[in-house]
Amino acid sequence: MSFPYEAPVSQSLFDRASAVTPGGVNSPVRAFRAVGGTPRFMVSGSGPYLTDADGREYVDLVCSWGPMILGHSRPEVIAAVQDAVARGTSFGTPGAGEVELAEEIVARIEPVEQVRLVSSGTEATMSAIRLARGFTGRPKVIKFAGCYHGHVDALLAAAGSGVATFGLPDTPGVTGAQAGDTIVLPYNDLEAVRAAFAAHPGEIACVITEASPGNMGVVPPLPGFNQGLKDLCAGNGALYLSDEVMTGFRVSKAGWYGIDGVRPDLMTFGKVMGGGFPAAAFGGRADVMAHLAPAGPVYQAGTLSGNPIATAAGVAQLRLLDDAAYAKVDAVSAELRALVTAALAKEGVAHRLQAAGNMFSVFFTDAEVTDYDTAKAQDAFRFTAFFHSMLAQGVYLPPSAFESWFVSTAHDTAAVERIAAALPAAARAAAEATA
Ligand code: PLP
Repeated sequence: MSFPYEAPVSQSLFDRASAVTPGGVNSPVRAFRAVGGTPRFMVSGSGPYLTDADGREYVDLVCSWGPMILGHSRPEVIAAVQDAVARGTSFGTPGAGEVELAEEIVARIEPVEQVRLVSSGTEATMSAIRLARGFTGRPKVIKFAGCYHGHVDALLAAAGSGVATFGLPDTPGVTGAQAGDTIVLPYNDLEAVRAAFAAHPGEIACVITEASPGNMGVVPPLPGFNQGLKDLCAGNGALYLSDEVMTGFRVSKAGWYGIDGVRPDLMTFGKVMGGGFPAAAFGGRADVMAHLAPAGPVYQAGTLSGNPIATAAGVAQLRLLDDAAYAKVDAVSAELRALVTAALAKEGVAHRLQAAGNMFSVFFTDAEVTDYDTAKAQDAFRFTAFFHSMLAQGVYLPPSAFESWFVSTAHDTAAVERIAAALPAAARAAAEATA
């Protein structure tokens, strides 16, 4: 397809980046390969807006893939970071900031009795899986197709996010031994989980699931699915591991657990809890966490774990996330969903808007989307046209049909009006798109 306008400065940065970095980016979906065109190199963010290297401003519906729930450059978070930076950037010792962040997490999420801080969601899930195996003494892990848990070797099989975006069947570099203990099942299919437990008695350490998946687009658990997982785990001596890297502190004060109340044995967090810095965590039952070094034998460590700047940003952001903040994000999300639906319906475009709390995404299909296969069956080419029309009109969507859209407390009336003004032309572009 042709692209409605050029971005010469971003293009020249992308050319330079491509010479020194594989594909020109440090995380694959940023490269725009699914939608084509020039990835925008952003130079600043303020409230709901991003400004690119060509000086164009966009309403941001990516929010750094979730973390920026208060919008960009929120003064209280920036002040906390500046205060922390002035005292030094890394000590490699325990510090008060990490205690405060751990206390914030434990106070908000009742099943988390103890928590360990790490630097990325990938590290959190990797470490939680190791802990589950160490605790149970069992090798196998059940995961669901379309769920993404970071680029952990054992968890890349049939993963969502960039793996879905690029339609990669499997990732070279992951050996049979690394993936051999991973059992991949269709999402929302409790019968398949029951059958896997029956086929591998005493072998399954844990079931890992996105608390509510957002990496194949937004595909919430069907009623009773998470409870069914928990019950099957409990009945078979396995741990129920809920990955809340995306949903944690975003869809409610206590994340998806605050919505469905199904009590995990272990949980993982990232994104929002770092306030835009690399901070993530895993935590849960105290008797399980007690197996972690130095309290127990399961090793896990990190030079920058609990970094003072990241923890200062995370604590400042979490303390601002009160009930009013979530009510605001939920309201903006509902308003945008209604606007998108109305615009697409007006143009007669087959679509489904799916939401999980304030996370949402559009599938270009009439059919219900409950798993990875039904997600992939959408007309993704319509998203490409829709995306580029929105981009040309100054609205920055995730550059893939398989990602959640994110909003923030900073998305005010002016930002929503800009999106509303862009939608009719984007819906028309989607209607006119051809495969
Ligand atoms: N788990 C989930 C549910 C995620 O959405 C992500 C990232 O998008 C991860 C884990 C990995 O987190 P990170 O990108 O910080 O490694």
